[in-house]
Amino acid sequence: MYWEKEIETIPHDKLKVLQLERLKKTVRSASTSDFYGKLFKNIGFKPDGISSLKDIENIPFTTCDDLRDCWPYGLIAVSRDELIRMHFSSETTERALVIFHTAADVNAWTNLMARSMYMTGMRKSDVFQNMMTYGLFTGGLGFHYGAERLGALVIPAGSENSRRQIQLMKNFGTTVLHISPSHALHLSGVFKEVDMDPRKDTELKTAFLGSEPHSEETRKQIEEILGIKAFNSYGLSEMNGPGVSFECQFQQGMHIWEDNYLVEVIDPETLEPVPEGTMGELVLTTLVRQGMPILRYRTRDLTRMITEPCECGRTHRRIERIKGRTDDTMIIKGINIFPIQIEKKLNNIPGVGNNFLIILEREGLNDDIIIKVEVQKEFFTGDLKQLENLRSRISDALKADILITPRVKLVEPNSLPKPEGKTGRVIDNRKNLYG
Ligand code: ADP
Ligand code: ZN
Repeated sequence: MYWEKEIETIPHDKLKVLQLERLKKTVRSASTSDFYGKLFKNIGFKPDGISSLKDIENIPFTTCDDLRDCWPYGLIAVSRDELIRMHFSSETTERALVIFHTAADVNAWTNLMARSMYMTGMRKSDVFQNMMTYGLFTGGLGFHYGAERLGALVIPAGSENSRRQIQLMKNFGTTVLHISPSHALHLSGVFKEVDMDPRKDTELKTAFLGSEPHSEETRKQIEEILGIKAFNSYGLSEMNGPGVSFECQFQQGMHIWEDNYLVEVIDPETLEPVPEGTMGELVLTTLVRQGMPILRYRTRDLTRMITEPCECGRTHRRIERIKGRTDDTMIIKGINIFPIQIEKKLNNIPGVGNNFLIILEREGLNDDIIIKVEVQKEFFTGDLKQLENLRSRISDALKADILITPRVKLVEPNSLPKPEGKTGRVIDNRKNLYG
């Protein structure tokens, strides 16, 4: 039933004691990094200034801009020889957030992954096909090592080539998948193309859906088509990646591993804590990470704590399915893309005008990004070839940057609405994304 019964069912008062002990240690070690060293000095905070969990509120929040500002090594709290692994967040900007791990960090993360998967009922007899991108992204290696620790047979399939994926499932009797929700929807179409019914023609029984938002309806749809139970898996690279929060067999919200992460939920406007159970921005502090401790990290993800105890007996509280973001990140096919990236790229292309609009659609089962770009008047004088050249130049330049081929449409100057506010350049027509 439990991977580590004692810690997974630890009573709340004991958990608090453990958290405090770990928080003190984390804050002390964080103070040896350039970033927190300077920060603590500036605000007059003493590295041993934590005597209760609440004292963490005396430390300012850390944001992704902070992580970028001290890129790449400014948050390291150990000597560099101690580091054994780095990862990037799944964004495509040149200075994507980079996270470093010591051997102990990788070990702790691997354990959290094994714990999470075991919680859903996965066992060593399972065949686990990891359909996430390996390499710098965290979803590949994170799940890979966790599943190996659990003792399952791991197929490191990566995210490409759906037909081959189906072959692998069939030939090796895959029972458990790790897959992005958009890929799972796509896969169901590919099963049809190859004239297979996943319910009858495979041994599949479980999928872990991670790395991008999806609604309860999407989960149900995937469960229905593939004939499986699908579990929501939440994480972010800054906090290791997957294994931060995961659904148990009861599928009623995700247990957040409070022995490894200290959880706060704040109002993103006032930055004050919200009453427990109210929607707000998730703020996390690493409690065991040595290489790169991060304090009070603003995830920009909106959710709510579920306060009732869970039927599974685990005492770690649950969070609801992610309800949205506080910034304008677009998550398309599991990749994080920012409108500013597109803006920068467009600004460097001669002929491009002053305004653009991003429209996200779900075409059938696939996410599509349509970018309407205002271009200079001259292009609309009747020479269609010239217009098409510019269009493909823009499309190629964007593809190189965001890794996804956008559908570029060129429009006349002043024909698009003027952007208002942060999300004014994005129209998201994908239904049921955050349900
Ligand atoms: P990943 O490799 O999971 O994409 P990143 O660090 O690049 O990791 O992106 C993390 C972000 O992805 C989270 O902050 C969140 O916005 C989104 N995300 C990850 N998992 C989920 C999930 N299960 N539901 C909703 N959003 C998710
Ligand atoms: Zn539970």
